[in-house]
Amino acid sequence: MARVPCDIEDLSFPPGSELLRYDGGVLSVPSSPVVAVIRGDGIGPEVIGSAVKVIDEAVRIAYGGSRRIHWLELVAGRGAFEICGTPLPEVTVEAIRLVRAALKGPLETPVGGGYRSANVLLRQLLDLYANIRPVKWYGQPTPYMYPGKVDLVVFRENTEDLYAGIEWAFDSVEAEDFRRFLRERFGVRLAADTGVGVKPISRSATQRLARLALSWATRRSRRRVTIAHKGTVMKFTEGAFARWVYEIALNEFRDSIVLEREIESMEGVVPEGKVLVNDRLADNLLQQLILRPWDYDVIVCPNVLGDLVSEVAAALVGGVGIAPGINMGDGIAVAEPAHGSAPKHAGRNIANPTASILAGALLLRELLGWHEAADVIEKAVGEAISRGFVTYDIARYKGDATPLGTREYTERLVEIMRVTG
Ligand code: NAP
Repeated sequence: MARVPCDIEDLSFPPGSELLRYDGGVLSVPSSPVVAVIRGDGIGPEVIGSAVKVIDEAVRIAYGGSRRIHWLELVAGRGAFEICGTPLPEVTVEAIRLVRAALKGPLETPVGGGYRSANVLLRQLLDLYANIRPVKWYGQPTPYMYPGKVDLVVFRENTEDLYAGIEWAFDSVEAEDFRRFLRERFGVRLAADTGVGVKPISRSATQRLARLALSWATRRSRRRVTIAHKGTVMKFTEGAFARWVYEIALNEFRDSIVLEREIESMEGVVPEGKVLVNDRLADNLLQQLILRPWDYDVIVCPNVLGDLVSEVAAALVGGVGIAPGINMGDGIAVAEPAHGSAPKHAGRNIANPTASILAGALLLRELLGWHEAADVIEKAVGEAISRGFVTYDIARYKGDATPLGTREYTERLVEIMRVTG
């Protein structure tokens, strides 16, 4: 691995590489872009190492050498803490801001203390306001009955809500001040040993997410956009979230969408070429996702609920070992596997790199617009699984498969791409 920069002065770009440019809302993608890579903690270096190999090969197969990614190694998480003394060096943030594209492995976050989550910080500092998680079935075994009927994309708000990190320990001065403020100003009494978290949800953050999701859904000819929320209980946060998404749908996408109440008189039939926009309460949505996944297509969620919805959806098609995600801002993105650093499997050559590989495909498709290379990868993943080339996590549900190591699985995938790509 190349020497990683801890300070801005250590930053240099690979020779022959070019930067993505974002001007006036338009992203220009050169043929030899720099893409940042953060290998991450635990199994991260193994799964991201595999993804880099597969992505390079897919780009070569799809474009025959006329396009190429130059990888820029950066660090974050526990690895960065050990090497640079901070979980998120300033140079890592600034370099991603400059190159605008990154593939990131899982980062370890200490529970209940230590340093703040580098993942959350990175999303906030780079204003990666949408977490997009496509969930579809590639043929992997799952105890679920209808995995083939799952093909949905979760758009999750990424900067606000309870995960924004505004919280104070029960015995902190801040929590005591906050409790006093609530008591004196609003007559709200909390027990003296109450920890406090704040759930901010703004109109502006909600509406830029809504704009991205609706424009994506209409461009990609998706069938429906469902707003997930628990607005019956949290009226002015999640309830407002739903109202604000509807506002964007009606004000900016009126010609492309239709509301559920508008098709009641048409026996629920959505007119040709229109995207249905509806909303569902969280509890109902989570059970319907399992019972009738085919009723869901694009789901727009506030942050915390989005976490739950995307994990449940991923479980339907076989779990997080294979689920990718991409954190997007305007003309900038960080793609990552949905799973964590699985420390007990680190360095054992057994981890499933598919989520990281598919995260790479997402970056190629959603940011660079290199759909052909993304197609090569996705096709090969389906083919590998159907031929029984799988890692331990999938093999344990697939009676006839011998588990492959991370490296061996990667080699099989590359061979398949060379034949089918
Ligand atoms: P985890 O790392 O996702 O691992 C939980 C279990 O999921 C593993 O023990 C393993 O199950 C399975 N698994 C996850 N990834 C896999 C892969 N690629 N291949 C095969 N199996 C896989 O969750 P965690 O143990 O809760 O979290 C560990 C650390 O990761 C924490 O520090 C957490 O903060 C961090 N984390 C980071 C991110 C991120 O960077 N975006 C996300 C989530 C968690 P079996 O052992 O049953 O096979």
